Amino acid sequence: MSEEPQIPVDPDDETEIPESHPRHESLLARHRIEAGVEKGITSLQGLIAQGRGETYDYLLGERTIESADAAARAAAAEFLLADHPVISVNGNVAALSPDAVVDLAQATDADIEVNLFNRTEERMAAIAEHLREHGASEVKGLAADGRIPGLDHARATVDADGIHAADVVLVPLEDGDRAAALDAMGKTEIVIDLNPLSRSAQVADIPIVDNLVRVLPLIAEHARDLRDASREELETIVQGFDREAALDAAERVIRSGASE
Ligand code: ATP
Ligand code: MG
Repeated sequence: MSEEPQIPVDPDDETEIPESHPRHESLLARHRIEAGVEKGITSLQGLIAQGRGETYDYLLGERTIESADAAARAAAAEFLLADHPVISVNGNVAALSPDAVVDLAQATDADIEVNLFNRTEERMAAIAEHLREHGASEVKGLAADGRIPGLDHARATVDADGIHAADVVLVPLEDGDRAAALDAMGKTEIVIDLNPLSRSAQVADIPIVDNLVRVLPLIAEHARDLRDASREELETIVQGFDREAALDAAERVIRSGASE
């Protein structure tokens, strides 16, 4: 009989996932998403997004490829060059990596804003509360007094002094439509998406084809490493990043299993 993966019984208890399990990271992520749904911070649609992401991650070898590391460094440079960077958080991001979001915001002096595809006030409040429990001092998104032009009402809603006023926005798992609308507003857009063919990745100034669980801490690490770099050095890093080449490299790895 083949061995069944042990899915934890209690969604609040991560310790029930055996560390020795070969798919420990993946089980942990599923567990967090499941717990997120139970806590009212992740939508049922989020389960589908998670499944799609896992597929691409499997094909990438569940590692940060070289071009994604370069993208993460360019993203860190953009954050440090920005006047007003914002990290956009949805239900999957909040469930998977709340500590990493808070840490990245601290490392880069960025705002955190909750932004949902399926917006409900309950879920907005639950996510903001969850982020505060993980150390966020301020969470935006609840004022809802700004609009992204070109989108229908609910999906256009942002904070006037948050995403609306931002010059650099990090959108992990953004919906393609809204990613395009933010791009049209002239913002520097950094997208984390495991699918290099996703519209969100395609419209990004800096597409990072990696799992947000791995790459959020990596962006913070690059930001700390670059903290004392001059504007010229940061600009050189940004200019040296080639978005087309990064997307091509990720697609090549996925299609051929090549190391890059
Ligand atoms: P498209 O962009 O192709 O039009 P979509 O964005 O509407 O499709 P969804 O399935 O809603 O499609 O998007 C979920 C996206 O999030 C997928 O591209 C998936 O690869 C990505 N994703 C899911 N989990 C993660 C994760 N942990 N890290 C990074 N990306 C993820
Ligand atoms: Mg997409």
